[in-house]
Parts: sequence; structure tokens; C-alpha cells
Amino acid sequence: MKMVANYHTHTYRCHHASGKDEDYVKAALEMGLKTLGFSDHSPWKYQSSFKPRMRMELKDFNDYAQSILSLKEKYKDEIKILLGVEAEYFPEYMEWFKAFKEEYRLDYVIFGNHFYPDDENGRYFGRSCDDDDFLKRYVKNCIEGLESGLYTYLAHPDLFMRSRDYFDEACLAASEAICAYAKKHDVILEYNLEGLRNGSYGYELGYPCPDFWKVAQKYNVKAIVGVDAHDPKSLLNEERIAYAYDFLENLGLEVVKELAL
Ligand SMILES: [Zn+2]
Ligand SMILES: [Zn+2]
Repeated sequence: MKMVANYHTHTYRCHHASGKDEDYVKAALEMGLKTLGFSDHSPWKYQSSFKPRMRMELKDFNDYAQSILSLKEKYKDEIKILLGVEAEYFPEYMEWFKAFKEEYRLDYVIFGNHFYPDDENGRYFGRSCDDDDFLKRYVKNCIEGLESGLYTYLAHPDLFMRSRDYFDEACLAASEAICAYAKKHDVILEYNLEGLRNGSYGYELGYPCPDFWKVAQKYNVKAIVGVDAHDPKSLLNEERIAYAYDFLENLGLEVVKELAL
């Protein structure tokens, strides 16, 4: 199966991605994609002067939007370009976020559930879910966020495996809860290629976690492959993309190739 659309693409503005915005478009064209969605880590309007290290600042958003919209126009005959963000569920800031999404007429938002209650005062789920109670918090935050209806899909649902040494009962319960919710509410779960760095295919810890995806198979959830590109070259990694589609097809999961956006 060939990738036709990728909705998980970052830009240098988040402080941990590289390349020019246009280079992502050129890479997508080289791969024959029909749609490229930009979803850089959303800014937030913090109540303090906190400067986030892993997402763009609010002052950079205009530049981001202008850049993506001008690429959309420039390449309109070759590829469909979408303006989105990857956003958290920060309970105290969601009213602001809803207005922000409307103001900029974002094409879509993907749910990257990284921190609770936010990245200023909270903990990173990818490092702190070794604590079973915090793992339960991860699940709760996933579900509460999804209940808002703001997000198009849940990115790396198995992020919590970054902080676990093995897939135990608590991991199984977390996976069951997320997959049961996804099945019931028709939420698409992302098989995230950024987790497959360094060719560590079949890697048991971290994400994507094969044991999580066995649970996804049991619940027969819908899956989508997200490159989570932090470098234009990631879009050109055919081997990694093919591995992901093969893996999901072998599980017999329905893989969503394009979203109706
Ligand atoms: Zn990132
Ligand atoms: Zn991402």
C-alpha cells in the first residue's frame, strides 16, 4: 500500500524540527502524495510568560499560517496542502483554543497528548507513565480530550510506552480503554512513524508498540499512518512507510488513507 496523504508534519518553529516549509512540500511531491497536512505543535496562550521548548510560540503562528497558505496557493495544481496543528488537551486553556481554531479556520487538529495539565506546570506522559496512576491520567486525558470533538485523530496513542520497560497489566488496561473508546466513537488511531526511528523495527518498548496494536486489532479500530515529520527527509523514508502499512495490514486493520477534510 502506498501513502497518498500525510497529516502529521512539523516545521522548524517548534524548536525540534528542521528544514524549510517548502522542502516538506517538495518531499511530498517526490513521494507522489496527493495531500500534505501541516500540523506543527500548536502554540498556547499561557497565563504567564512561559516560553515552551517543544512547540511554537504564539507570536510565530501568523508566520506559520502565512507560509503554509502561500505554499497551498503556489502548489495548488500539484498537491492539496492543509493548514492544521497538533494540539494538546490542556483543560484550562480549551476555551481559548476553540476560539483560536475558529479564528484561523484551521483545516484540522490532530491530538498529540503529551503533557498534563500543561507543559508549563505538568509532566510529560512519555517520561512519567512509569507511574501507574499517571498512566491512568494519560488515558483519562485522551478520552476527555476526544470527548471535546475538536480533534481529527489521536496521534501516537501508545506514547505512554516510552516510559514503560515492558507491557504489563497496567499497559494492557490503558490500551483496552483507549481502543474501546476509539471503536465506540469511531476515533482513528495513528500508527506513528517517528517512533520507528533508527530502523528499530519491531522494537518492543517505546511506540508504536506491537502489544498496543494487538489490542487495536482485538477492537478492530481504524488506523492511520502518520509520518510525524520533523525533517523533510522523513517523508522520503519509503522503507519505514511500507513497514507501517504491512504491519497494519497483517493485523487486518482498516487503514484510513485519506481524510475527508
Ligand atoms: Zn514534535
Ligand atoms: Zn508530532
